[in-house]
Amino acid sequence: MISSSTIILDKQALTHNWNFLRSYFGKEIAISAVIKGNAYGHGIEEYLPLAEACGVNHFSVYNSGEAHRANEVKSSTSTIMIMGAMDAEDILWAVENGIEFFVFDLHRLEAAIYAAMRCGKKALVHIEVETGMYRSGFDAEQLPEVIRKLQQHSDQVRFRGLCMHFAGAENISNYVRLQHQKHVFKRVYRKFRQAGMEPETVHTCCSAAAIRFPDMRYDMLRIGIMQYGFWPSPEIMIEYRNKIHREDKVPDNTMPLQRIIRWESKVMSVKHVPAGAFVGYGYSFLAQKHMKIAVVPVGYAHGFSRSLSNSGFVLIGGQRAPVIGIVNMNCVAVDVTALERITTGDEVVLIGRQGHQEISVASFGEMTNLLNYELLTRLPSHIPRLVEG
Ligand SMILES: *Cc1c(COP(=O)(O)O)cnc(C)c1O
Repeated sequence: MISSSTIILDKQALTHNWNFLRSYFGKEIAISAVIKGNAYGHGIEEYLPLAEACGVNHFSVYNSGEAHRANEVKSSTSTIMIMGAMDAEDILWAVENGIEFFVFDLHRLEAAIYAAMRCGKKALVHIEVETGMYRSGFDAEQLPEVIRKLQQHSDQVRFRGLCMHFAGAENISNYVRLQHQKHVFKRVYRKFRQAGMEPETVHTCCSAAAIRFPDMRYDMLRIGIMQYGFWPSPEIMIEYRNKIHREDKVPDNTMPLQRIIRWESKVMSVKHVPAGAFVGYGYSFLAQKHMKIAVVPVGYAHGFSRSLSNSGFVLIGGQRAPVIGIVNMNCVAVDVTALERITTGDEVVLIGRQGHQEISVASFGEMTNLLNYELLTRLPSHIPRLVEG
């Protein structure tokens, strides 16, 4: 046994999701697949070729470490874009390898120009502008200087994109802030055009913004969570359904988004516990009756959060088995008293379907959908990923 659990990626579900995204947003709009955070826990090395098989040819990562990994496995016709952190030496590497990157300060713009001069290739830059998120992006007063540099150094830099990021598009309570960001971006875009600087692409939308703001879609979307089969938040799913309804589009009977990840393990041991005994560390779980428990060799070291202690559940024999006691570093105990036949080696599902039961990532955390992002990306890269279908 190489590992105590396995993550399985469903190729059919992924194909379904990409077909949905393309038909909903239209073929004219390009989609960059956001694969930061180890492809939201799915595994960059396993996920990227699968996405390519679905016709995806643009991938967004956050840092150059992820870009190196993606660059190792991508085909020659795919492009990588770095949206965040890069060290000085990464810039030369990116320029040499045709990797696109966000530029949000003059220091990086100058480094890009310098790298282009050194290696004789053009830097492929996406100018990120500050519109009110205050994470990264050029301030308005820096833009004349940016435009001047792009014009002066058109032999060294290609103006691949103009972009921004919304400060929480999945949540309606951010409405005022997001409206302001839209205005600021449109004004900045106008400024660039007035200076005769038309970017090759304009992109502003993550998943939630792409659903919510059709006027901000421009040429390209940066879609993360939806390609993996999750809505950014329940309210975005409702907004999608309302839009379909208003536009009189006939909704497909199948779910528009399907989860592609499945996480499974096996029962490590089965034990009988007498009434009145405590299970696991300390006194957190008292058996009130005679119980049968199964120990599953997955714990918080594998991304099965400690907060699921005495509250999460897994699937065994097609039934829900509640977590009892504290989640340990490498294992967890679950109640299988109600299950007649259960033995060592039986399949345990931590995320996914078994029989008629299903554990979505959200209910694995028993919290809101928003935490899907965190729970997925916490799945450690050492768990093997397999592809199915
Ligand atoms: C993470 C990220 C995205 C994708 O967000 P989703 O909500 O997963 O679609 C897009 N753009 C930037 C800059 C990001 O950091």
